[in-house]
Amino acid sequence: MWNSAHAHVLNLVAYEPGKPVEELAREMGLEPSQIIKLASNENPLGPSPAAIAAMRGMLERSHFYPDGGGWALRGAIAEKLGLDRANVILGNGSNEIIEFIGHAFLKPGDEVVTAKHAFAVYTLMAQLFGAKAIEVPDPGFTHDLDAMLAAITPRTRQVFIANPNNPTGTMVRQDAIDRFMERVPEHVLVIFDEAYFEFLDHPPDTLRFVREGRNVVVMRTFSKIQGLANLRIGYGLAPAKIAGVLQKTRQPFNANGIAQAGALAGLSDEAHMRRTRELTHEGREYLQREFAAMGLEFVPSFANFVLVRVGDGDAVFQALLKRGVIVRAMRSYKLPEWIRVSVGTMEQNQRFISELAALRAAGALNAGPA
Ligand SMILES: *Cc1c(COP(=O)(O)O)cnc(C)c1O
Repeated sequence: MWNSAHAHVLNLVAYEPGKPVEELAREMGLEPSQIIKLASNENPLGPSPAAIAAMRGMLERSHFYPDGGGWALRGAIAEKLGLDRANVILGNGSNEIIEFIGHAFLKPGDEVVTAKHAFAVYTLMAQLFGAKAIEVPDPGFTHDLDAMLAAITPRTRQVFIANPNNPTGTMVRQDAIDRFMERVPEHVLVIFDEAYFEFLDHPPDTLRFVREGRNVVVMRTFSKIQGLANLRIGYGLAPAKIAGVLQKTRQPFNANGIAQAGALAGLSDEAHMRRTRELTHEGREYLQREFAAMGLEFVPSFANFVLVRVGDGDAVFQALLKRGVIVRAMRSYKLPEWIRVSVGTMEQNQRFISELAALRAAGALNAGPA
């Protein structure tokens, strides 16, 4: 039976997530408390205290189904962003929105345009629906929107723009986005993945394309700045007609009530978001300064992680694991010489740097000239 599954499903290579702390503890015989995880761009401060209180309250109501329509949370998101509730769709993580878009718009033989070093889920989702991902070169690790535009064919249904992108941390600016949006043909849906939007000092405005009724979906998430990655809650913002179509593709209760309650409370906790932003900026500057001091090439980041070139990325990843530090190896992103490290607390950042420096002193970092 198993091998009668669709060929494009059989050929799928599963997404490679960050290694959980408990798994490493089990494998290495370490105490979980000795381990730091800087592998999945999580918020080292955790969720907002207001979110935790709201989730505790909702926990007591776990025997009730959630509000499948997400009335309160969609309304609060819309109000905060100057949109209507009809523009907002909730996802079990923003990753689920990518899947909704596939259900609604992709068929075998279609093409999806993405950048060569973009977030891997776009290509995986395209393959899941039998579509072909066209991965466009990204010089300097930055999406080349002119080249992505040139890659559009009559078969292209979607273009993904991750801004800032993961794992590179680079972003495209307003003028490049505007030029792209002036020229993109009508048969293409443009998806702006803004998972790290709240970390930006000068964020580009893509919501105006939603207001103008263009063919766009803007995706954001509570997994990063809000520290709710475990709860799986994100959202898409689109013109009402497009959001309405996506609503038809989802399970009736895709966003659980505990997540909705936490997200709703976190949304208005500006102080927690500010603290997270400040900690991220401080830690990112520190990491980048230390990489420069060690002579390691890195990609200056706009998000809460940094891509750094260490030589044999897999070997350094493994050596750091032995020392109780989980980062991400980048071979699956076609970057075998690089690792990606998430910004943690300053204490965690310093621990990571001292372990990396120890590996360097032992001759384990062999990055050639940039
Ligand atoms: C982390 C991340 C997301 C968020 O995924 P969730 O499903 O909301 O947890 C989306 N896109 C990119 C590029 C990311 O790095």
